[in-house]
Amino acid sequence: SATSARRVIRELPDELISQIAAGEVVERPASVVRELVDNALDAGATQITLRLLAGGVRLISVEDDGGGIPMAELPVALKRHATSKIANLDDLESVGTMGFRGEALAAINSIADMAILSRATGHASAYLLDGRSGELRPVARSAGTTVEVKELFFSTPARRKFLKTDATELAHCIEAVRRHALARPDVGFAIWHEGKLVEQWRACPHPDAMDALTQRLRDVLGDDFVEQSVAVDYRSSAHKRPHEEDGLPPVRVWGRAGIPDASRARPDQQFAYVNGRFVRDKVITHAARSAYEDVLHGQRQPVYALYVAIEPNRVDVNVHPTKIEVRFRDSREVHQAVRHAVDDALAAPRAAAVAAAVS
Ligand code: ADP
Ligand code: MG
Repeated sequence: SATSARRVIRELPDELISQIAAGEVVERPASVVRELVDNALDAGATQITLRLLAGGVRLISVEDDGGGIPMAELPVALKRHATSKIANLDDLESVGTMGFRGEALAAINSIADMAILSRATGHASAYLLDGRSGELRPVARSAGTTVEVKELFFSTPARRKFLKTDATELAHCIEAVRRHALARPDVGFAIWHEGKLVEQWRACPHPDAMDALTQRLRDVLGDDFVEQSVAVDYRSSAHKRPHEEDGLPPVRVWGRAGIPDASRARPDQQFAYVNGRFVRDKVITHAARSAYEDVLHGQRQPVYALYVAIEPNRVDVNVHPTKIEVRFRDSREVHQAVRHAVDDALAAPRAAAVAAAVS
């Protein structure tokens, strides 16, 4: 209680520090899925396969064909604040990878039974690191990495009690992969649950990036999403931002925006990405919704998949432990770009329809 005797200030033991940090990053199995798929993508994977048991609570296994981890570095990967992705402040300010905080593996290892199997490109053998014992032994596998996470929250039963049914946790895991899949049509994804293939999205071979994206949107969100949406393809021009220094690279916005008829009661098909990272961002959400203000009434929610590309030093991704929120240096610039992008996309078919009606 508030009146209990004060205790001496002590540094917390490492294990407890990791468990506290894990609370920020890992809320449920889907959080683990997100972190492990981030890592696979950062490693250059072209195919990512997930195997889940009991909605991910009993097992989450993420296998990739990326660059792998050399044996000597495997134990380091499990340490807190250990990363191969940034080395200094400059790197942090222009980070191009999904991860950079070096926290995920350490956090997950503190609240679950974890094993990493990896074979680094150009290395003759693969190794398995047992997260609990620290034991390292050779195993057989091709180049790439598999991370296995078993019995999530086994050591933190309070957390485990917050978990929902397996079906609900599975749905969240699938949603986490869906968000990645929509950003990376060039990568194949497969999700197995209890030995059954539940989702599979093949890598899209289209040479044209826009075609590949459209195909991926079709595969992941369904034919209706594509058929009831219009292409967004916009690039802001420097003269629209007169107060900025010359030669500032434009903000690009592309993707697809649903026609008004495709709107929904809930905002459950609104996917926004900044430099390839799925984000929940008020600026983008507001800008997109405002483009529909004349055509959508009340609480109707538009559907869209919007991809924003902006100079990395104009967006801070280090504002939230899970990196789902970002902060823009100039949020007006992003708001205007998204608004114009969706406006233009929605105007195009209307203009065509009007032209057809008057001719
Ligand atoms: P971060 O992703 O922020 O660097 P993590 O704790 O997620 O931190 O991972 C620590 C390090 O382990 C990474 O920087 C990377 O070098 C290595 N790593 C993790 N997962 C993989 C993977 N699937 N393939 C290759 N390397 C990986
Ligand atoms: Mg990571």
